[in-house]
Amino acid sequence: MISMPTSTRTEDALATILVVEDDTAVRSGVERGLALHDYAVVGVESAEAALELVAHRRPSLLVVDVGLPGMSGIELCRRLRDLGTDVPILILSARDQVGDRVAGLQAGGDDYLVKPFALDELVARVQALLRRVRTDPVGTDVVAVGPLWVDDARRIASVHGERLDLSRREFDLLSTLASNADLVLSRIRLLELVWGYDFEVETNVVDVFIGYLRRKLDAAGAPGMIKTVRGVGFVLRPGRR
Ligand code: CA
Repeated sequence: MISMPTSTRTEDALATILVVEDDTAVRSGVERGLALHDYAVVGVESAEAALELVAHRRPSLLVVDVGLPGMSGIELCRRLRDLGTDVPILILSARDQVGDRVAGLQAGGDDYLVKPFALDELVARVQALLRRVRTDPVGTDVVAVGPLWVDDARRIASVHGERLDLSRREFDLLSTLASNADLVLSRIRLLELVWGYDFEVETNVVDVFIGYLRRKLDAAGAPGMIKTVRGVGFVLRPGRR
């Protein structure tokens, strides 16, 4: 029996969760439960389908049942780790066997939940796994500077967990500033890094784009992060200092 959790907003509104489970009732229950917590959820019936989707959709987390037709959930974990992906994986299994649990964790699973389970517990574990990833940027492409997060691989920037709506150039500029946080970058250096060497643009294009970014960071609740260093250039810092 699966109990439905009450709806609460989470700070992981950007997270997409891939649910791999062939049992339709369990899968749709899990999908509904996660959707109630504002996660984007994609459900698939097989490990093979999951492998295809992981490459395109870059989910933030996988919920994987051990018992699947064809490739097992354990084998799916192993393959994903072999492919070098460090996406968090929560393993589901009907069997509360120590050996099963150990196999799942050894294959690269991050946590383990035995069926039948309460959806509240599943959601709590998902949140905990996502928190762990977000507070430990080592091994991910995410640069965190105060409330600002820049995920270069997925080209997503967020402030306090809310995604910023940025043009390509704005993203590149913000990403460059973030990965050089606390370092002053000259206008020329920024032109080289963001616009490329063969630029035919005025140096004031940097000032114009800095202005755009400042307005967007300000509106998102992170004002004053980009400082002007007179006669030198710009620097991104975590606070207003
Ligand atoms: Ca199953």
